[in-house]
Amino acid sequence: MTVLLYNEDAYLLDFTANVLDCTPTKHQGKDAYDIVLDQTAFFPEQGGQDCDSGVIRVLQIPNDGNSVNPAGDDAPSNILHVSIKSDIIHHICDRPLPSDAVVKGLINREQRFDRMQQHSGEHLVSGTVHRYFGADNVGFHLSAREVTLDFNTTFEEKDIAFIEDIVNRAIYENFETHIFFPSPEELKDLNYRSKKEIAGQIRIVEFPGYDMCACCAPHVKRTGEIGSVRIVAAEHFKGGTRMWIECGARSLRSARAQLNDVRAISRITSAKISEIVPAVEKLSESLKDARFKLVKFERDSILALVDDIKAEKNPIIWIDSCDQDNLRMGVNTLVSGTDGFCSAFCGNDDDGYRFIIASSGNDCRELINKMKASFEIRGGGSADMVQGTIKATRTEIAVFYTETGIE
Ligand SMILES: [Zn+2]
Repeated sequence: MTVLLYNEDAYLLDFTANVLDCTPTKHQGKDAYDIVLDQTAFFPEQGGQDCDSGVIRVLQIPNDGNSVNPAGDDAPSNILHVSIKSDIIHHICDRPLPSDAVVKGLINREQRFDRMQQHSGEHLVSGTVHRYFGADNVGFHLSAREVTLDFNTTFEEKDIAFIEDIVNRAIYENFETHIFFPSPEELKDLNYRSKKEIAGQIRIVEFPGYDMCACCAPHVKRTGEIGSVRIVAAEHFKGGTRMWIECGARSLRSARAQLNDVRAISRITSAKISEIVPAVEKLSESLKDARFKLVKFERDSILALVDDIKAEKNPIIWIDSCDQDNLRMGVNTLVSGTDGFCSAFCGNDDDGYRFIIASSGNDCRELINKMKASFEIRGGGSADMVQGTIKATRTEIAVFYTETGIE
């Protein structure tokens, strides 16, 4: 089994090890190498957390005349993925390493610390939910993009603020994390989360007074290092709740981006930051008002057009832009005065047209089928009315109508 250096020291970011095995393999369809070391500080993907990244460099190749560096140079082997199977850690790398070589592993420091902040923050949130709401964390995912926690209960908005306050208080108290490996006898008396899920040697991560949980991942030494925890979203999920959290530098980055958005809205609305909500509400109301006036204007325009052509046998409305209800109203008004084809085309030659065609005396489906033979058309309907979109110019449509005998 591989000695897991991260179990004892989460801050160990470079280490030396011996290469036990290097086997060609594939990773995401490309050539790669499955490297096994006698010990490692690389955390594998497990328990909902993505694996560490970094590089492995050759320090020394045994001078036995047999061992050669298969890569042929001193370039490091990049970690593509790390997994654990039957207590063996497999480092999937882009370049081979000589068997029996002494190597140095270097872990991506920023990524590791970010994950320590997120994972420790997750324990504080899950422990607080367990303690105050009696609910369990039933799903956890930690990647570069997001941290999600699934709980088998639902929360009110005030509960979310309450949990955030408790968790951040634990951060201000800046106490030490207690990580230990209890004996089976000691374990029986411990009241910790994830009690049933993990077999074998149990590693307990305790945030005294806030949480105790079986966990294999690297954690911060003191809670102050988490920086802060924000619960940025909570949604109903499978009868419970999915919660998104951001901790430490990740929380700061996202708060900064959100503040920049708020400043931009403040500039656009010419309102102070403290007054952007009523300013946006006012803007939304005036938009609704403008939309209402536009629809009324379009209705009047359509009615004027209808008035001009209502005496024709097969009248056609041409208009640049119009609400669909108004367009339909125009066609229906025309249908009441003729048994010919009453058509409305809304749009322009570059983008194409939306159309509605209705008739009380002809089968509109026959007409649209003929049109489909000549043009790119989406749509359909009944004998009384068809509607859809057409890619054609006004001239092309007019020529088609003439050739079809609709004038
Ligand atoms: Zn954990």
